[in-house]
Amino acid sequence: MISTKVKESLGPLFPILNNIRLLYLKFKLRGNKVYCACCKSTFKEFAPFGNDRRQNAWCPNCESLERHRLLWMYFEKKTNIYTHNLKLLHIAPETVFFHKFKKQKNIDYYPVDIFPHLYPKGTTYLDILDHEIPDDSFDVIICNHVFQYIEDDKTAMTNILKLMKPGGWGIMQVPINTKATETFEDSSITDPLEREKIFGLKEHVRYYSYDYADKLRSIGFDVTVDDFTASFTDEEIFKYGFFKGDAVYFVQKKS
Ligand SMILES: [Zn+2]
Repeated sequence: MISTKVKESLGPLFPILNNIRLLYLKFKLRGNKVYCACCKSTFKEFAPFGNDRRQNAWCPNCESLERHRLLWMYFEKKTNIYTHNLKLLHIAPETVFFHKFKKQKNIDYYPVDIFPHLYPKGTTYLDILDHEIPDDSFDVIICNHVFQYIEDDKTAMTNILKLMKPGGWGIMQVPINTKATETFEDSSITDPLEREKIFGLKEHVRYYSYDYADKLRSIGFDVTVDDFTASFTDEEIFKYGFFKGDAVYFVQKKS
């Protein structure tokens, strides 16, 4: 996959070159050893991804990564995403999920972000820190890889709980620093390079660790930290292109 810097430098040429690259990869990786839960395609393996070129990561058909395929299979196996009529709020919508949710007749879909122009067309403006957030509006709220960018993550989480209908559920993934035992933030760290070194990216304002679920519970969510990949063999983890041990943070609002 290509970095944001390269994408920006290529400008309008990027989508054309990216499509050519995807076509080439689809041909090169044709086969049936791995299966993408998001687009139902099979390949010899998934393409490498990231600066470290990690193997078996990127689907050349729908561009899903490990975490997308894991969550989609989680949706299919453990939630009512196909079986119930759901009003679904999707904050910072992942492109691969956006297109799938849009097509589902049972889903009344609301993709939102504070920067909607950075997301697929149809995404509308919502500031999750807004104080005028309505109550009890959505059956499902998906908010992945957002809180690490927000200084006042407590208000963001509180508003999401407020927006959720009683009995509703959500997925709230964040990157977990597995080398730490506690979440760390320090508002005096503002230098982009220092943030990158300490928090992982220059835009991040903290890293979370294993106490993340406790923070969600302190807001009022019921939280299940589901070690979903533990129910798969190593062969299946390769076949579906998951990260072993990647937990799903499933939250619910009490009825
Ligand atoms: Zn795919």
